[in-house]
Amino acid sequence: MLAKTHDNLHREVQWHCLPQGVLLNMNTLIIKVDEQKLKPEELESAAQLLREGGLVAFPTETVYGLGANALDASAARKIYEAKGRPSDNPLIVHISEVSDIEILARDIPEKAYELAKVFWPGPLTIILKKKDCVPYGTTGGLDTVAIRLPANLIARSLIAGSGVFVAAPSANISGKPSPTKAEHVIKDMSGKIDMIIDGGMATLGLESTIIDLSGNVPVILRPGCITKAMMENVIGPVEVDPVILSKNPDPSLAPKAPGMKYRHYAPEGKLTIYEGDTTRVIDAINHKAKEKLDSGKCVGIIATDETKALYQYGTVKTIGSRKDENSIAAGLYAILREFDELHMEYIYTESFADNSLGHAIMNRLLKAAGYRIVKME
Ligand code: AMP
Ligand code: MG
Repeated sequence: MLAKTHDNLHREVQWHCLPQGVLLNMNTLIIKVDEQKLKPEELESAAQLLREGGLVAFPTETVYGLGANALDASAARKIYEAKGRPSDNPLIVHISEVSDIEILARDIPEKAYELAKVFWPGPLTIILKKKDCVPYGTTGGLDTVAIRLPANLIARSLIAGSGVFVAAPSANISGKPSPTKAEHVIKDMSGKIDMIIDGGMATLGLESTIIDLSGNVPVILRPGCITKAMMENVIGPVEVDPVILSKNPDPSLAPKAPGMKYRHYAPEGKLTIYEGDTTRVIDAINHKAKEKLDSGKCVGIIATDETKALYQYGTVKTIGSRKDENSIAAGLYAILREFDELHMEYIYTESFADNSLGHAIMNRLLKAAGYRIVKME
């Protein structure tokens, strides 16, 4: 029986915040696959693992995903265990054909097809009312389901070849920066999952845009590479969940994407963003970095290609070029992880323009910084 009453739904999703390492000491197989020279048979063992209820991490164009059969509640539950993910944080279900939405969702509005036509395959997740076949263990107890058709060819061949729909959150330990390279997944997931497919670097580097089409008005629940303006060109007015717009979130506002309420994307060091006139930002970061170094602390600085040479203290790394916002999005999580590897205690970063793709970059950066931002007057 797949349909659930609300009572047993509660029993099913109340394991909240499982301890890390429940699945420790599993043998994790690592295979290397080239997206450009992909042969479907290379993914056969991974597809079989998914069919059998196993966990497989795979590359997508956004970040690496940790996949399991989305319609098998016990397989999906293993994802939460491996990540240490709170059980009320729903999973995105990945499909390989647009028409698959009709198997997973009901009352599908025309706008879903219009968006799918333009942005799928790609970094857009659409929330729709779920059908009974999708277990509450996958949707975190919600009556809606998040669906995405990824563009990465390894991801799509794996989903199609497995013959199952693949629930896949980012393949990191919950709360850590999302993985954009296989080595990040290996660090977080070795010994906890069945297989990791190394398909090189995730090209976009930020999680998908999430749009909720289950209500009367389309609402963006998480900003990403597909921007509000891009979607409004296709379906008309789109709203934004007010929690996303707030730079100093009101604790009484609950985000509509449950995952957005958790501390996320965070490095181990204390990250602070400096915003304002570039020269003043650089002066302030230099001053702060010197102060911390003098007191014996390790300091990392997130600079851009344009400003790197102007920092005098600490370990300075460039995230990308301000002339190419895509390079900044692609470099963000990797740089946060590099500073973790170096055990930086304090990390200082410049801020970025808060529009189009910059809006998604600032959303992740603010969360990673726990909303610590210094504004230069
Ligand atoms: P991740 O896959 O780790 O990038 O996280 C998936 C994000 O999608 C989380 O923020 C979830 O809360 C959100 N999400 C997934 N399913 C739903 C849903 N049915 N309604 C609202 N948000 C969702
Ligand atoms: Mg995630």
